[in-house]
Amino acid sequence: MTVPSKVIPINPVPGPLEDQEQALYEVRKKIYPRAVSGWFAKWRWALVFATQAVFYLSPWLTWNGRQAVLFDLGARKFYIFGVVFWPQDFIYLTVLLMIAAYSLFLFTTVAGRLWCGYACPQTVYTEIFLWIERKVEGDRVAQMRLDNSPLSVRKFGLKAVKHSAWIALAVWTGFTFVGYFTPIHELGREVLRFNLGPWETFWLLFYSFATYGNAGWLREQVCKYMCPYARFQGVMFDRDTLVIAYDEERGEPRGSRSKKVDPKAAGIGDCVDCEICVQVCPTGIDIRKGQQYECIGCTACIDGCDQVMDKMGYARGLIRYASLNGVSQHLGWKEMIRRVFRPRVMIYTAVLWAIIIAAGVSLYQRVPVKVDVIRDRTTLSREVEDGLIENVFRLQIMNTQEQTRYLKITATGIDGLTVTGIESPLKLEPASTRLFGVNLRAPGEKAQKGSNRIMFHIEAVDQQGRPAADDFSLHEKSIFFK
Ligand code: SF4
Ligand code: SF4
Repeated sequence: MTVPSKVIPINPVPGPLEDQEQALYEVRKKIYPRAVSGWFAKWRWALVFATQAVFYLSPWLTWNGRQAVLFDLGARKFYIFGVVFWPQDFIYLTVLLMIAAYSLFLFTTVAGRLWCGYACPQTVYTEIFLWIERKVEGDRVAQMRLDNSPLSVRKFGLKAVKHSAWIALAVWTGFTFVGYFTPIHELGREVLRFNLGPWETFWLLFYSFATYGNAGWLREQVCKYMCPYARFQGVMFDRDTLVIAYDEERGEPRGSRSKKVDPKAAGIGDCVDCEICVQVCPTGIDIRKGQQYECIGCTACIDGCDQVMDKMGYARGLIRYASLNGVSQHLGWKEMIRRVFRPRVMIYTAVLWAIIIAAGVSLYQRVPVKVDVIRDRTTLSREVEDGLIENVFRLQIMNTQEQTRYLKITATGIDGLTVTGIESPLKLEPASTRLFGVNLRAPGEKAQKGSNRIMFHIEAVDQQGRPAADDFSLHEKSIFFK
């Protein structure tokens, strides 16, 4: 039996080479990804729902009578449920970025572009926008027909409905995004009154426009030309990384055939050259040409090809999650999983866990009160009644929790050192900072001439001055001058 081959049209050369105009940039061909269903598509949609449920619902949750998740830049406080982060906690933001970076390294080394394929906002919003487009204009073929048809009332109507839906979703996304930085209920009221501040207006429009433009118009161009991650992912891959791989040995030589034909007897591979894998690809590539940086690992081609294999009665997995070594050396899943535990992966895992544990311990032991001791430079040292030497300090105390705190302040380092000029216990309002003067007095004969090392002790107490239930104490060094 002869293998049906495709006719590849060769464009006639329009004239002498020197007369031809060379474009500097490739003209974009619009991609119409075909809808696909299957095991991986279900996972992708599950993650779309999960990530979007978190994104759209979080700002509406309340905690302790305020917005549960709020990044209040004006007040320089970040609220995440019961925890309040202050500018002094900037280190945790650094740690969070380190965890995100190492997680990305780890997951990419193990299983390629998992982030791009399942959780990246560009992928997620493109998926949602594509779904709207299909609901309004129909699947791939219907969309192509509509785009190639002359302008009509129907075409105009469908385009208007689609863009209106896209814009509505984009604006709601922009509103939600700004709602993480401005209390969302207040923001909603201001929007309804057309009374938004300039920054809120700017960010709402900017984020809405970015969502509409990126997911509606630019789509795969963001991944191909704008996202730097697509470019440097290669350094994290090795031949044991699980990627979306086409089994060339099994699939080639490709060619269409009837279902009744035995491919082995016909001397052809399992690929029926239906191009479903290309049609479902949101970046428009042909995975059969091998690994390409444009592949975002969305697995749509796996689902598409598996359906074709099912129809033909062939085994699934002509395109599958596999390492390049796995495909070339015919490794089974057990062997590929065993190779996941290679030195590079173990190092990333160890570093990631070390950072997570250190951050967890630090957060757990985080003292809810922060203290700064500042010497009063105008009054270095003075003699007061009864031969006592007095130094004046300024204490800045910050209550990082959302409950009223009572503190007892003492000092040691010189026999008979006492704290005066301050209420005891000292009351601190929830999530507030207080700056106040403190006088330290020491007997003149006990303090040595010049500087004396002393220590401030700040202890948590209850309203009556007894040790607090969550007993903690802080100790700050300073100098007492005689
Ligand atoms: S080649 Fe497959 S996995 Fe890669 S982007 Fe295209 S459809 Fe997604
Ligand atoms: S979907 Fe599968 S069978 Fe069809 S062209 Fe792609 S690899 Fe070949």
